[in-house]
Amino acid sequence: MKSGICGTDISIVKGHLPTPLPIVPGHEFSGIVYGLGDKVDKDLFFKRVTCEINTNICGICYFCENGIPTNCIQRQALGIDVDGAFVQYIVVDDYLIHEIPDSLSFEHAALLEPLAAAVNTYELMPFTPSDNIVVIYGAGKMGQLIAQVTKQYSSLFKHKVGDPPMVVVVSRTDEKLAIAKKNGADLIINSKKEDPVAKIMEITNNIGADIVVECTGNPKIMDQVVKSTRTRGKIALKSTHGLPTPINITDIVVREIALYGTRCGPFEKAKLFLASDLINLDDLITKRVGLSNINQGLEDAEDSTNIKVIIDNQK
Ligand SMILES: [Zn+2]
Ligand SMILES: [Zn+2]
Repeated sequence: MKSGICGTDISIVKGHLPTPLPIVPGHEFSGIVYGLGDKVDKDLFFKRVTCEINTNICGICYFCENGIPTNCIQRQALGIDVDGAFVQYIVVDDYLIHEIPDSLSFEHAALLEPLAAAVNTYELMPFTPSDNIVVIYGAGKMGQLIAQVTKQYSSLFKHKVGDPPMVVVVSRTDEKLAIAKKNGADLIINSKKEDPVAKIMEITNNIGADIVVECTGNPKIMDQVVKSTRTRGKIALKSTHGLPTPINITDIVVREIALYGTRCGPFEKAKLFLASDLINLDDLITKRVGLSNINQGLEDAEDSTNIKVIIDNQK
């Protein structure tokens, strides 16, 4: 098994995100099927797979019947509500499994879950040809993935979104900004050195960005996020830090800004991006540790220069 450390795992370990205790975190993973329950398709044995995170789906509640089982009323998230992936072997329900092609490494497959979450930004929030400037606050794993997905979206769905928009990435870390730039961001802003709101206003003739995505994990960022958004623009929220978040509701109401919260997304669509070689995942893996060094891995994941720490669950 290989697994990835996510900001959510850090929030759990720090006690910011309430969970049942004790709990094994970890919800981004891949591996080989090593054993099967009695009623499971025997063909799954020894298959290379990755796994969705919403388990304990009932199939009969309002949300299940309306085609959104990921919001099932009795849903439990692996590694958040029930034990997750920072183990050598994990037992999961068969309906969560996605087979992966031999061409996809286990490390990349472990990133399919966050890539699907990045893709989901544009499943729930409309993304149209008139969205010409997209600003992404945060250049961690999610910010990097959304920046790449935003830039590449029209390669797969040009009929829906037209030409790629200008993508602006805001972060406090030059190393992360350089990676965003290398992978297609048109403009990078180091918010330690430059006021991002002033810069965004400058490049948009004081209008603001059509779409602003928040994935910093920092609850104090919302003021800048709202100020960067144009009147009647859209804000996508991706952080799950579990902390109280000050936000100027009046500005949102007066300027008629729409807020969208989105999380886990469609694995099959995420696979399309990978199959078409549209997303560079290698640049995002900045550290590897064995499971026996998980605490070191969690510390590394908090280091602002690291984007993604991958765990080898067998080491
Ligand atoms: Zn995650
Ligand atoms: Zn249900």
